[in-house]
Amino acid sequence: MTVHARPPVPPIADPVSDLPAVSYEKLEEVFDDIRGHPLYDHEIHGCLNCGICTATCPSAQYYDYSPREIVQLLWTENLEGIYDAMQEKIWACAQCYTCAARCPFENSPGGLVMIMREVAIKHELPAVKEVLRPFSRVLLKVVSTGNQLAPNMITKEAFPDWGPNVAKVDAPLMVLRKAIPMPTMHTLDTAWEVNLRTSVELYTIWEATGVLKQLESVDENLFDVVSDVMEEKRDEWEEWLEDNEDDGDDED
Ligand code: SF4
Ligand code: SF4
Repeated sequence: MTVHARPPVPPIADPVSDLPAVSYEKLEEVFDDIRGHPLYDHEIHGCLNCGICTATCPSAQYYDYSPREIVQLLWTENLEGIYDAMQEKIWACAQCYTCAARCPFENSPGGLVMIMREVAIKHELPAVKEVLRPFSRVLLKVVSTGNQLAPNMITKEAFPDWGPNVAKVDAPLMVLRKAIPMPTMHTLDTAWEVNLRTSVELYTIWEATGVLKQLESVDENLFDVVSDVMEEKRDEWEEWLEDNEDDGDDED
């Protein structure tokens, strides 16, 4: 009887992941940055694995995302799981902090997600650019005008890359917003006017805290546009100061 050799068994791998293999040293480095964040010990104290956070999390209703899972990964120091969650899952959190208000351990899963996002950007993880790309227009609007999106800008034509659900917000928003008693919710052009001096001060804060450096690592083109906007606003501010100094001199 002929004995055939068994065919070689293919290595076990994640069939859906396109991510490159990551060294253990890199996984440790990423986790050390998360654990070394000044807020880390404030945001995690243990975990019962009770799932209250996930039960009350709005993002968990719509995405493959669970704050319980995130906290468990961190608490058990599951380095591979943490790295994996940083590719996509952590970007589903809406930062509403309902979880922090409900957790019996006084953990803040939303706060932990914020730390993980900071570290993901710092390490320029491959998925960061991909995940943040649809938000570049929002960011540019916030940086250049100091305002967020006006609701009439959120249409399915303007945001085709936000997927089919964007059509659900393409509604009579002005009518809906009129029902909210705060007057700042009634405008469509800008939510409020941002003082030139405030904008310039904000730019200084973003520079000093490394926010702009982070932006450069995520989206170099957007960084260039933002830098031009900042330069223009600073020039305008200088001119305003000069004009007003002259006015002061005239008055003397
Ligand atoms: S983080 Fe808090 S609420 Fe969530 S599973 Fe752990 S103990 Fe429960
Ligand atoms: S902060 Fe994030 S994790 Fe917590 S409830 Fe809100 S969306 Fe969910």
